[in-house]
Amino acid sequence: MSKNKSSESVKVVVRCRPMNEKERAAKFERVVSVDVKLGQIIVRNPREASASELPKIFTFDSVYDWNSKQIDLYDETFRPLVDSVLFGFNGTIFAYGQTGTGKTYTMEGVRNDPERRGVIPNSFEHIFTHISRSQNQQYLVRASYLEIYQEEIRDLLSKDQVRRLELREKPDTGVYVKDLLSFVTKSVQEIERVMNVGNQNRSVGSTNMNEHSSRSHAIFVITVECSELGVDGENHIRVGKLNLVDLAGSERQTKTGAKGERLKEATKINLSLSALGNVISALVDGRSSHIPYRDSKLTRLLQDSLGGNARTVMVANIGPASYNVEETLTTLRYSNRAKNIKNKPRINEDPKDALLRGFQEEIARLKEQLQKRSGKKKRRGQRRRAGEGSDSDDVEEGETEDDDEDGDYWREQQEKLEGERKAIMDDHSLVAEERVRLLKEKEKKMEDLRREREAGEMLAAKVKAMESKLLVGGKNIVDHTNEQQRMLELKRQEIAEQKRREREMQQQVESRDEETLELKETYSSLQQEVDIKTKKLKKLFAKLQAVKAEIHDIQEAHINDRQDLEQTQNELTRDLKLKHLIIENFIPLEEKNKIVNRAYFDDEDEYWKMKPITRIEDDHQMMTRPLSAVGYRRPLSHHARMAMMMRPDMRYKAENIIMLDMDLPARTTKEYQEPVIAPKVAAALEDALRDEDEIQVDASGFHSSLGPSPSTSASGSLKKPKSGRPRTGKKSSTPTSPFSPASPGSPLYPQSRGLVPK
Ligand code: ADP
Ligand code: MG
Repeated sequence: MSKNKSSESVKVVVRCRPMNEKERAAKFERVVSVDVKLGQIIVRNPREASASELPKIFTFDSVYDWNSKQIDLYDETFRPLVDSVLFGFNGTIFAYGQTGTGKTYTMEGVRNDPERRGVIPNSFEHIFTHISRSQNQQYLVRASYLEIYQEEIRDLLSKDQVRRLELREKPDTGVYVKDLLSFVTKSVQEIERVMNVGNQNRSVGSTNMNEHSSRSHAIFVITVECSELGVDGENHIRVGKLNLVDLAGSERQTKTGAKGERLKEATKINLSLSALGNVISALVDGRSSHIPYRDSKLTRLLQDSLGGNARTVMVANIGPASYNVEETLTTLRYSNRAKNIKNKPRINEDPKDALLRGFQEEIARLKEQLQKRSGKKKRRGQRRRAGEGSDSDDVEEGETEDDDEDGDYWREQQEKLEGERKAIMDDHSLVAEERVRLLKEKEKKMEDLRREREAGEMLAAKVKAMESKLLVGGKNIVDHTNEQQRMLELKRQEIAEQKRREREMQQQVESRDEETLELKETYSSLQQEVDIKTKKLKKLFAKLQAVKAEIHDIQEAHINDRQDLEQTQNELTRDLKLKHLIIENFIPLEEKNKIVNRAYFDDEDEYWKMKPITRIEDDHQMMTRPLSAVGYRRPLSHHARMAMMMRPDMRYKAENIIMLDMDLPARTTKEYQEPVIAPKVAAALEDALRDEDEIQVDASGFHSSLGPSPSTSASGSLKKPKSGRPRTGKKSSTPTSPFSPASPGSPLYPQSRGLVPK
């Protein structure tokens, strides 16, 4: 295992499954051969078997043929990875390959067969065995299980299987799935149960499980937290996270003829895998500074596993038969590139999100509470066993004894109270009222005592429950069979290690051979030189041919990819054009603009969203239209609702592209406004309503209005007349004051019903 902070490559292993019944029956040719010793996969081209085309050779960290055993794969390839997870590293295992080549077999295997169990169950066994053998360490193991299907994340352990989860990012802990459940598990059985629940949920809602699993990515996550006393006397927590990923089938999704939903699905299914491929290319390329992790949910979630803080193993699964040869070669090329990814794994020490720390703190807090309670008890009650030292306070010490003592204490207290109660009953010297009062008091005390006891018990139970979740080992360490098993495992590991070294050496020898070829340059005769050089030439020529063929193949694959993308693009463009057509012709421009103005892209959720409706013109919040069909996009008859539930009939499918609140049309009415009384009228009314004796008929004013010059009014009732200009009947700027003086020149009688000023 390498040291902290150093970088290491993604380990890539290839496994070829055996021919299945059908393939054997149909007498398919086997085109894949596996050189386990050299770590090579050799693929022949079935079409030109006899022709000059050379077989294609790929070299990997290790390769497994059809006879490979699950346990061998585990010991050689996965055990070291899981070991480092137990030590606080992040680890990821990907299973990549065409559908039906053994991804699920490798990851899960056959559940109830110990021989054919896959990586996931084997890792359960491994993790819990490791914990049981540990000493002076506390562990917390939890598991999550999720699925990515069509770029949507589903929590396979949740009761609500309809809900889709979102990815979030925190600067200190990185990308995570918001609200993803994780279950603390205490044993192999418990974590198996978690896995089974998830597997059941995975198949729920999919009519064809095989098809569904070939189109979705399943990720089982095990988080192992370990707390250990460091040399500094402090507890340190290491957290290792193990991602076990069963990827969707890598085969090309047929998009030909797919339209609408199906096309969208096919495009989305490929998205995560092609994003994974792009991330791998970008990482390997070394020149591109931008790694497109954000292009898909899968790559975002597993960002650390590719070029980051994790150890990663990729298992590429292939089939041996001739009809699969194209996909097999694609898989091999894909995983061949992944070999060159460099990761930088490090131990995650004391991370912020460690659950264990919280657990420990909570337990300590509860224990302290418990101790305080017992302290109170002691002070109140007399201790019977006076000889015992104060160190019996130590909670670590025998719980049963403590319990016993507890019980005694409570019994004693209860008996005492009971006795006192009896004494009161028997005490005839007491007045009846007094007795009732005392009895009540005692009863209350008994009740309090009971409650206190219950609270104490509850606290103790809580501590116990929490403590039981933290796993400690060391109990079975002396177990003889256990010891033997351990020896066996060690031996197996040694063998695996040896095999690995042997293979590495072989690979080195091979490459050296080629190099030394060029160094031999002394020849005894011309003929010998010719011979050697001819040999060299032949070898190099063969190599050149192989490289040329490879280039040709890769170009072909590229062209295929490009055609595929072009086809997708064409179909999407056609789709888009249709949408445009609909928008242009059936959606009023005004409505379209409204939507365009409201739409915004939420970077976090990667969705277009609509801002709430606001009416900008008159600065009013737009009222929302009352709902006509609660919970539905549009009014639906009962029949339609039932039909929709019974069968997903297109006829009743609400086809709205986006959920839009209906907005109210612009108003055509106006608010009622009180009439504004013309000042003249107001003044006249005022005058008319005045008391008799106040009325002064001022004829001069009337006269003067007819006269050419507005002379000053003699009227004492009219206040300060305005400047020479006569007031017109225009709307007064202060209509609220009805007492504004009438202009001296205006007649004082009301004008028709002219409430609205002229
Ligand atoms: P995938 O998950 O890649 O679609 P599966 O794991 O479901 O493929 O495998 C398809 C079938 O092949 C299964 O019936 C499985 O048992 C069988 N199979 C795959 N790999 C092996 C293997 N190495 N040895 C025996 N059977 C295998
Ligand atoms: Mg599968």
